[in-house]
Amino acid sequence: MRIILMGPPGAGKGTQAELLIKHYKIPHISTGDMFRAAIKEQTPLGMKAKEYMDSGALVPDEVTIGIVADRLAQADCYNGFLLDGFPRTAAQADALAKILSDLNMGLDGVINIETDDATLLERLTGRRVCKQCGATFHTVFNPPRDQGVCDKCGDELYQRSDDTLETAQNRLKVYNDQTEPLIAYYSEQGLLKRTEGDQEIEQVFRNILDVLEYQ
Ligand code: ADP
Ligand code: AMP
Repeated sequence: MRIILMGPPGAGKGTQAELLIKHYKIPHISTGDMFRAAIKEQTPLGMKAKEYMDSGALVPDEVTIGIVADRLAQADCYNGFLLDGFPRTAAQADALAKILSDLNMGLDGVINIETDDATLLERLTGRRVCKQCGATFHTVFNPPRDQGVCDKCGDELYQRSDDTLETAQNRLKVYNDQTEPLIAYYSEQGLLKRTEGDQEIEQVFRNILDVLEYQ
């Protein structure tokens, strides 16, 4: 299964990605996770990405497209993958089409998780992520069993530095300006599958499986 997960920041892409990659046994390609790993390792890519991520802006296309092209060419992507948070601009979508055509691959679907704007800010500011395994929780909507501790690996949870109210608001604006137009782009190609994101996590997951398998 070759899937793109789309939706505004906070829609639940990372949360659904964790479930979908287990179900389909495919690699999870999250450009945000790749940038955060590079920042942690203090690589040149990380230093560059951090300048943009701190304010909620997008990392430049030429940087982002390069890392995805390299990742998709790896052998574990041959039988499927899930892209989360890429593409986010028209230039990235065009580049992805070229990368996939060079690799002789097509897409099975582009899932758009639709979520109300007010919900998104609540979700982003309450999000907590595991330092070790990257699992995602929410202080209210999806709390861990023990506060501040990951249910899956027992490590510490932290709040992302771009999940403050101000940066989250900026990220939503950037999404509306630069990424939302891609919904029409994929709809015109007959690839878009819509899902209602304002439901329980398990229900959203079942709906995504439904649209992928039967639409
Ligand atoms: P994205 O990857 O799209 O930015 P996440 O998957 O990280 O979004 O989810 C953002 C926050 O919302 C997290 O704290 C997550 O636990 C929570 N969340 C995700 N899906 C739901 C849902 N269906 N209902 C309530 N909270 C959710
Ligand atoms: P995410 O983890 O998807 O919420 O992304 C966090 C941040 O990483 C974004 O606000 C951007 O600064 C950067 N980022 C992630 N994916 C992309 C992308 N496809 N293009 C540009 N910047 C990105």
